[in-house]
Amino acid sequence: MRDYLKFYIDGQWVDPVEPKTLDVINPANEGVAGRISLGSAVDVDRAAQAARRAFASFSQTSVKDRLDLLGAVVAEYQKRYNDMAAAITEEMGAPAYLANQAQAALGIAHLQTAMAVLKDYKFEELRGTTLLVKDPIGVCGFITPWNWPVNQIATKVAPALATGCTMVLKPSEVAPFSGYIWSEIMHAAGVPAGVYNMVNGDGPTVGAAISSHPQIDMVSFTGSTRAGIEVARNAAPTVKRVHQELGGKSPNIVLDDADFNAAIAGGVKSVMMNSGQSCNAPTRMLVPAGRMAQVKEIAKAAAEATTVGDPTGNSAMGPVVSEVQFNKIQTLIQKGIDEGATLVAGGVGRPDGLEKGYYVKPTVFADVTSEMSISKEEIFGPVLAILGYQSEEEAIAVAHDTEYGLAAYVQGEPEHARRVAKSMRAGQVNINGAGIDFMAPFGGYKQSGNGREWGDHAFGEFLETKAVLGFAPKEAAE
Ligand code: NAD
Repeated sequence: MRDYLKFYIDGQWVDPVEPKTLDVINPANEGVAGRISLGSAVDVDRAAQAARRAFASFSQTSVKDRLDLLGAVVAEYQKRYNDMAAAITEEMGAPAYLANQAQAALGIAHLQTAMAVLKDYKFEELRGTTLLVKDPIGVCGFITPWNWPVNQIATKVAPALATGCTMVLKPSEVAPFSGYIWSEIMHAAGVPAGVYNMVNGDGPTVGAAISSHPQIDMVSFTGSTRAGIEVARNAAPTVKRVHQELGGKSPNIVLDDADFNAAIAGGVKSVMMNSGQSCNAPTRMLVPAGRMAQVKEIAKAAAEATTVGDPTGNSAMGPVVSEVQFNKIQTLIQKGIDEGATLVAGGVGRPDGLEKGYYVKPTVFADVTSEMSISKEEIFGPVLAILGYQSEEEAIAVAHDTEYGLAAYVQGEPEHARRVAKSMRAGQVNINGAGIDFMAPFGGYKQSGNGREWGDHAFGEFLETKAVLGFAPKEAAE
């Protein structure tokens, strides 16, 4: 039982101004795994004021100082690596292999990427007689979700520290353990008081207070499009920069010349990973209509080979995060059946033998059309929709027939796949199962968000550009 009742403000673990707690549920057994405090606007104010005070000196630190600081955070993180992975499994149900090899690993990877970018980053550039200066934007507010909890914290905190910003974080109240451990790591690493602050709480209270606080200069939000719109609305009166990483319904175009066994099985596996709870999951698979029978066979085998069970064991898939998500997913699976899609694998109800815990069957629908709910709505569960297309033009049109534009996937003969990939309107396009690239920008077109995280692009979110005219004498420019 984890009693994580304090907030981290101004370099200290402090009590909230009002005692109010929330139970955190372990989705694998529906038991209470711990408690957090739910903060208020007053707690956010204390944190924002501390961050404002710390900004005066932290914004003036040298690149070397910030590299040393990030290095210290990495070293402390390494000491807590196993704790971090175990906390993620407990709070949101990621299976042990995924928590270890991906969820916890991404936290370190973003810190190391920020260090690599910082080493050579040009904060000043002379153009003619004008000097362009990149200044840290100031105090940042971070609001993060539960699905890749430490990844999303690290993608914000690491570049913010690297650029000399100070910050207030609100982790997801659904999966807050990893954020608490992250804060302990920051403390152990000697992050100066006030530079990094954490307040737990719900969205409408603490999230809204961060979004609207006059001492917070920018807010970076990852979560649903619904909440992202609220954040932008609350940020508008103080003209904050708003960075948004929102939802997705990403297409996976399987071209006729793809290796079908690898492409279909790989596509199913990607959707089932993290129980389908990834914003960039390839949830709409587009295949040549004439080959639907072959696709169904491969997809069925791949889905049925996905082992589901206790995430502390060897299963490929654990539960989904909560009862709310479980019920939402069940409703959408039922809608898929009612609206006439062909159920190829899985379906409503829990997998056999898993009566306790929010376990969902790995589910595949085929003969799906663009109008069906399972093709339009972000399900955020282990549910794949397979749609048939008659021509490549139709495939591209259907791929774009969504309000989202976070990611797209193309499978096929490389030259052909490259051509189709370039036509995609999405922030990240993946060809033939390419691996992760930490330097590649991550973010969405359309209602999937604004701005980019990861690599050097992330730095831009935390910097203002100042032009100093007449900085160099005229002769220098001639
Ligand atoms: P959510 O929007 O419910 O919550 C995300 C965070 O926002 C939480 O910390 C929550 O407390 C807070 N929040 C909720 N309402 C708020 C409000 N009115 N004002 C301020 N903050 C508020 O999302 P979730 O259920 O935690 O996560 C799932 C969603 O996140 C999915 O839609 C998924 O696609 C999206 N997501 C996007 C990315 C990306 O990079 N684009 C990554 C991961 C998740």
